[in-house]
Amino acid sequence: MTEHRTTCPYCGVGCGVVVRADGSVAGDPAHPANRGRLCSKGAALAETLDDRDRLTTPLVQGEPASWDAALDLVAARFREAIATHGPDSVAFYLSGQFLTEDYYVANKLMKGFIGSANIDTNSRLCMASSVAGHIRAFGEDVVPGVYEDFEDADLVVLVGSNTAWCHPVLHQRLLAARAAHGTKIVVLDPRRTATAEGADLHIPLAPDTDVALFNGLLAYLAAHGAVDHAWVDRHATGLEATLAAAGATAARVMAGEGRPSTTCDAARGETVDGRHTAGHDTGAGGATGATDDPAASPAPAPPAIDTIAAICGVDPEVLETFYAWFAGTERVLTVYSQGVNQSASGTDKVNAIVNCHLATGRIGRPGMGPFSVTGQPNAMGGREVGGLANQLAAHMRFDDPDDRAALAGFWGVEALPARPGLKAVELFEAVREGRIKALWIAATNPADSLPRAALVREALAACPFVVVADCWPTDTTDRAHVVLPAAGWSEKDGTVTNSERRISRQRPFRAPPGEARPDWWMLAELGRRLGWTEAFAWSGPAAIFREHAALSGHANHGRRVFDISALATLDDAGWDALAPVRWPLPAGAASEGGRLFAQGGFPTRDGRARLVPTPWSGQAERPHPARARRPFLLNTGRLRDQWHTMTRTGAVPRLMTHTTEPRLALHPGDAAALGLETGFLARVETEAATTLLRVELRHGQRRSEAFAPMHWTDRFTSAGPIGQAVHALRDPISGQPALKSTPARISPVPVHLHGLLLRRSAEPLGHGLHWTRMPLDEGQLFRFEALEPLPPGEALRDLAAALLATEEDSEWLELADARRGVLRIAALHDGAVEAALFLARAREALPDPAAVIPMLGAPVPDAARPRLLAGRLYDRTAAEGPRVCACFGVSRDAVRHAIVTHGLRDTAAIGRVLRAGTNCGSCIPELEEILRDVRIPAA
Ligand code: SF4
Repeated sequence: MTEHRTTCPYCGVGCGVVVRADGSVAGDPAHPANRGRLCSKGAALAETLDDRDRLTTPLVQGEPASWDAALDLVAARFREAIATHGPDSVAFYLSGQFLTEDYYVANKLMKGFIGSANIDTNSRLCMASSVAGHIRAFGEDVVPGVYEDFEDADLVVLVGSNTAWCHPVLHQRLLAARAAHGTKIVVLDPRRTATAEGADLHIPLAPDTDVALFNGLLAYLAAHGAVDHAWVDRHATGLEATLAAAGATAARVMAGEGRPSTTCDAARGETVDGRHTAGHDTGAGGATGATDDPAASPAPAPPAIDTIAAICGVDPEVLETFYAWFAGTERVLTVYSQGVNQSASGTDKVNAIVNCHLATGRIGRPGMGPFSVTGQPNAMGGREVGGLANQLAAHMRFDDPDDRAALAGFWGVEALPARPGLKAVELFEAVREGRIKALWIAATNPADSLPRAALVREALAACPFVVVADCWPTDTTDRAHVVLPAAGWSEKDGTVTNSERRISRQRPFRAPPGEARPDWWMLAELGRRLGWTEAFAWSGPAAIFREHAALSGHANHGRRVFDISALATLDDAGWDALAPVRWPLPAGAASEGGRLFAQGGFPTRDGRARLVPTPWSGQAERPHPARARRPFLLNTGRLRDQWHTMTRTGAVPRLMTHTTEPRLALHPGDAAALGLETGFLARVETEAATTLLRVELRHGQRRSEAFAPMHWTDRFTSAGPIGQAVHALRDPISGQPALKSTPARISPVPVHLHGLLLRRSAEPLGHGLHWTRMPLDEGQLFRFEALEPLPPGEALRDLAAALLATEEDSEWLELADARRGVLRIAALHDGAVEAALFLARAREALPDPAAVIPMLGAPVPDAARPRLLAGRLYDRTAAEGPRVCACFGVSRDAVRHAIVTHGLRDTAAIGRVLRAGTNCGSCIPELEEILRDVRIPAA
């Protein structure tokens, strides 16, 4: 194999990856997104290429089948459902892991030929609110900025965005810029995250008060002369109404009036149904008749900062500092992601942010603008082809008859569906209610990741026909009638688009295992089997891309910013060699697209942007009907080294060492009030489900709030996914679920026995135990608790034998201490530890998990047998705790020790001594946190 250039499949940063001849991976120095860097997940990509657990053959009712048999059956069931119940009785649920070509084929098939818009994607959970906010403000779903803005800005505001963990390479670019020229960083986040730890200012605002905070900022900007009326007059509308809403709502809410009644879409100006006719980059679009005359209509008095601070639950001085920095800094970039989007008011949050940039004219110039960063690698590509149920391909719109006619003409069909389809949560509600008769799910795991996952599982069980295409078995494939083996990251050929509109090639560098095939191929096969032979007869992904590129220019004439028609004439070799390139790229473009909208030219009928009034609803202040019984707000989100439902990263042992199991983060004060301590098991009850999580104390949690990671599934814990406990609340405009604010009750769980189990098998433990599993190089580490008393004597030994699951001729070494309630068993086979079990009545009597891991598979000389279970192989000095640096396996304890003993004062010094932080750099924010924590003794 020669060297290959491809793109990381994880997050929306879209880093270029070089796969070397020896199979190792490195950051691509030539890729503009990362310039050679990779984070811990990207750096571990080579370790995900183990095909042992892959799906390699089609399965029908669990039995291997040929592709022809499987696809014929799928086509027959879809045809039957459509004929009997109409096109809206079938649906696709897809993924931001799809390549653009996969997405294009799926969307063309469902919306163009089947005649339904029931195609949605897990990107609905990620950035649908940003899409809706962009369309309301700009007329089209467009990110105006570019990554260089992270370096050009003087002030970067990160809202609901833990970039240090979730977009690490972009965060490193920001930290490098700060080191070079002192960029100020402000973080708005209820949690003191790794990103917040390193910020100049952290504003721990109460959940879902962002709209109030940015309304307050807008009013402050107006009151302090920071509104650029000349720019607004030329390029935007709605300032007056938006200022009125911003200035008035907080005061009204504080006066007890609650949510203003003018919340209909039209009143908020969100029906942006027009388009300008000039090119977006000409700066010529836009009527000159200003409607917002500041002299005629002075802005209402802004609400007092104290009022906003009280609403947001933050220090007024801190808030005023932020407002003053924002007002006084021309180059200000506001970056936002899931903390903004995953909310019942996500779309309003986006527009409240965008309003501040439009009002100041700080958009589209170096270092300034609103910047939505996407969670998934190809969320943007999915948006380009209409992968969401409420979008059409190439940024065309359902509410525009001209768009629908143009798209139908391009595809050669009579008509397109007249209205949007079902969005993710409502799609699975329709499945559960029996309205969907045939469902195709691909590259996503809704049985774990969607809110109220138990109901999703019910829906899958009730659906007459479920097809799931994926690379690995998941909790969703387990519930499918037909499972189709999909090609994975290393085998797929196509393109992805990152958060700055940059299209990159994802190139295959090895063959799919067994009979696995790319998603575009499967969907095209379905289209052909349903009778549309010509329309789905591409020779390969390059041909699909050309059609997608040509469509972007079709009937466009500058009406839509998304235009890559310059790429429509690439031949196969040209497409294969395509270097990363940013749109827009209309036919004849001399260079790639850059920043947008500095000179207006918005894709609306009058060429002007819309400031959208976002009256704050006051929901955070009103007593929530569920809060009395469920006084906590449960927030869910990502960890640094895991990805989605862990199908890839969960199989890489070194990525498990940073966080070894799902934990519930609680403020120490809350934990103490509940009788909980670090390591205790807590019960989390919501209206949707009850789950169990081990507690960790975090001073960075706000009181009455808890955080749990989104990644763990049935395959890794008996408690199942946290998604099952998340409520069904969603943004009324975008349909995006509010994944960060589920009311919950938290209580301690009595535990009768604590246990650790080392063994080869990953099979679930059963026996009524609560357990979590951590994959190791040599096997598995289970950590478990007995919630009921265990049987004594022989029955306990029987249970131990069942858990150890050893060979029949294994030899057991045992150590029992009845007084302390301790039992330890090591099973030896061929002179090495085959499995080991540690049981203890008290949690403190268990060895440190990190210290026992090396036992598995270790040879045990006769002389060492007496010491094996006596505790000397796993005492405190052997335990090193969680790994901070995944690349070099450096633990938190080792970093603390080195700081003290060597007098280390910065991360570079830690890197010189321990190498931590010198490869991917993902751990640097945590190294800085440890540096702040550890006091170096005076010399
Ligand atoms: Fe991949 Fe990390 Fe880059 Fe995201 S930041 S694309 S996860 S290497």
